[in-house]
Amino acid sequence: MTASDVRPPNPPWTSLTDNGGGYLSVYLNDPLARWPVREVTKPADNKSDPNIETSTYGLFSTCEPSMRKAIVSNGAATIFFMTSRHRVRWLTGYYHIGWSAPGVRGASRGDYALAADAIKFVDPIDPKTLAKPARAALLVRFRTQKPIGPDIVQQLRSEIDGKTDRTEDYLAEVKRLEQFSLEHSGFAYPSWGRADGFSWDDAPTYLPSGAEAGAVDAPNSSPTGRWRCARCDRVVANKALLKRCPACGDTGTLSPDLDAD
Ligand SMILES: [Zn+2]
Repeated sequence: MTASDVRPPNPPWTSLTDNGGGYLSVYLNDPLARWPVREVTKPADNKSDPNIETSTYGLFSTCEPSMRKAIVSNGAATIFFMTSRHRVRWLTGYYHIGWSAPGVRGASRGDYALAADAIKFVDPIDPKTLAKPARAALLVRFRTQKPIGPDIVQQLRSEIDGKTDRTEDYLAEVKRLEQFSLEHSGFAYPSWGRADGFSWDDAPTYLPSGAEAGAVDAPNSSPTGRWRCARCDRVVANKALLKRCPACGDTGTLSPDLDAD
């Protein structure tokens, strides 16, 4: 299977019908970054989502499984991203989801990867500058994600669409952080054992093609911060569950390692 074969709209992706609703989704941004991209350099927990390089969410990481599942079942197709800096939770951009595919843990377990047909990131917007009803929705405290109705989706979409597109600047910032990590550790993503950044060339590994059958049903966190691979039996350390074993490269094989040191 070649990389181009697995880009949407090709299988295993299926179209998502937009019902008008959406989600607010909070991500951690990188303190080393000029543009507030995901926390690529987070120690022992390098972030891969939102993966703007491929316009995907949940293809490479295990972040926010319940939101991904709800987006697929409800057609809540627009994700607006927010991130905190200097005590403000900024609005940074959106994905309009066009497709979904079962993740390596399988649709039966509610694991879906999402791919966007449109994305846009802008100069961060302070929610206090927005009119109602979006202003209230964004300023009410919520943890990492929150569903929003079509009225707020439309307001936020026109707000962002009216601004200069900075997506290329965000993309360049991800590359810069990966280069920084590479120079310091020999890996773009040391906690993943990944030398390079992410692209569609990686996607076939992360989409089910028999991998689902062998996938272990694992929780998203390990109390020890360590994971054991069912295939190679090695133990790896990472705060969040990785979809792919950094040692042998198989997917869906990690489960919490509960043995004491
Ligand atoms: Zn392994």
